[in-house]
Amino acid sequence: MLITRKKGMRCLPLLLLFLLLSVTDSYANISRDYQTALNQFRSLVKNSKQARYRSNWKRLEDKFIAIYQANPDGSYAPKVLYYMGRVNEELARRSYLRSDYQAAVDYYNRCSKRFTRHSWTDDALYRMARVQYYNLNQSAEARKTLNTILSKYQAGDKYKEALALHRKILSEVRGGTTASKSPQKHQPTSHTTTTVSKPRKASNKVALKGIRFTSSNDYTRVVIDLSGEAKHQYKFLNADPVRKLPFRLYIDLDGTVPSQAVKDELKIYDGILQMIRVGKPVPGTSRVVLDFESVQKYTVFALENPYRVVVDVSAPKDGNMSHPPVDLSRKPSVQKPKKPSRTVPPSRKIPDLIEQLGLTVKTVMIDAGHGGKDPGAAKNRIREKDYVLNVAKMLGKKLKAKGFNVLYTRSSDVFIPLEERTAKANVQKVDLFVSLHINASRKSRVNGIETYYLNLARSKSARRIAARENAISEKRISDLQFILTDLMLNSKMQESKALAELVQKSMVKKVRAKGWKSKSNGVRSAPFYVLMGAKMPSILVELGYCSNPTEAKRLRNNSYLNLLADGIADALSTYRTNLKNYAAM
Ligand SMILES: [Zn+2]
Repeated sequence: MLITRKKGMRCLPLLLLFLLLSVTDSYANISRDYQTALNQFRSLVKNSKQARYRSNWKRLEDKFIAIYQANPDGSYAPKVLYYMGRVNEELARRSYLRSDYQAAVDYYNRCSKRFTRHSWTDDALYRMARVQYYNLNQSAEARKTLNTILSKYQAGDKYKEALALHRKILSEVRGGTTASKSPQKHQPTSHTTTTVSKPRKASNKVALKGIRFTSSNDYTRVVIDLSGEAKHQYKFLNADPVRKLPFRLYIDLDGTVPSQAVKDELKIYDGILQMIRVGKPVPGTSRVVLDFESVQKYTVFALENPYRVVVDVSAPKDGNMSHPPVDLSRKPSVQKPKKPSRTVPPSRKIPDLIEQLGLTVKTVMIDAGHGGKDPGAAKNRIREKDYVLNVAKMLGKKLKAKGFNVLYTRSSDVFIPLEERTAKANVQKVDLFVSLHINASRKSRVNGIETYYLNLARSKSARRIAARENAISEKRISDLQFILTDLMLNSKMQESKALAELVQKSMVKKVRAKGWKSKSNGVRSAPFYVLMGAKMPSILVELGYCSNPTEAKRLRNNSYLNLLADGIADALSTYRTNLKNYAAM
């Protein structure tokens, strides 16, 4: 016994040492694994290509789960739960799936319930409230979550933001655009007021410079001009007949102030858009409220350089509301572009049906690129804005001769923002939209004719050209591709592609028939601002590279330009005939 005890006593320090070592070792492992997972999270957020894959986010979630399970009560557990929420939130932003947002809320909730005293608890709660409010449309739940922060985490760094969001939700519930006072019990204590509510420097503010709109009886495009980049959130509110409130879409612009030129209220009543109101739901945020007679679909997206937020709203033609309206900028489009039905009911006359299916091509809008202060590409004695206007007029004449109605976005040397050109086409309900451009490249040997339709850019050169025409950087094109995937899928993509193919083939055929050795770069796709939101088949033609001396010489020749215009006109005519035949089949 003695011997054994002695032996045991001697072994005890060793055992303790072993235990201590293994605990430290597993702690070191968890710490290392956590750091690795965290780094992976950060790089996945930045890698827009990899971030598109659901499997990458799920793998990362599994890693965090493994770390959590290794020690569910350890010091890393709350942080890991928080990041499991973040992973699902980031995934949801890309998948648009409600279930992913819900998973994020569940993790944040677990984090806040299991670790009430951790310094990250209020961060988890605040994130949870934002997802509930902005993504899950659960205002009441969001307020409840915010109340927890406001009552239990007053000294935390999320107090001020929680208070602002709480006020915002309250003001929305009351239907106004002005900030409403929050309940007395949520007034900040003197301690938190002095530490967290420092007024921002005025110079940091982005100015809401103005609001433009193009409106008709079934379509409106509103453009909010800002002096710099600002985060925006938007929300659709149904009409409330009892309180005599119309359909409202409001856009909140964080960190912005309306400039003096912007009116609080602008009565319009010229179509579906009734009124534009501007208010401040909370200090530092501008709210633009759009009142509508009816709404069927809406899209909100930002364009850059200069920064502006574009709101597209369509109303049903027959005046019947579909409930709820479709938010095209958020919901992924899974349906393929609709093809016109081939079956013709015997009781109906074919011409009527063609009309009903929107298969007639009567009016073409010709868009001469650039203009005014924006000269476009300029090289080898060619200024893009002048040359494309020249071709636009040639093309217009030819189309009129073929029986088309012709409209121009510009017929003189004036500047028109890209988004206004598309808006004009939508408001005028034209059947086809053709934007004319002349290309340029830093490499002078690059040459050729190419025709574009709106879709993701598949090549580096397509990205580069879209960046140039949009006046934004190539890096921004990548962001744009991601953000606008759904928006672009809703455009008349198949029709636009078919039109682009006809136009490209016809132009090349025309010039080659006369002995010009022009190169065809084929039909390509890229996210062009000027085609975004167009409701009709729309294309962008790059007539050639002015940066290539040989091609520039061709482009300076009027008979060459005339052949290009001939080619486009013939193609549009073929497209019209094809549609008629297609509908009659
Ligand atoms: Zn151009």
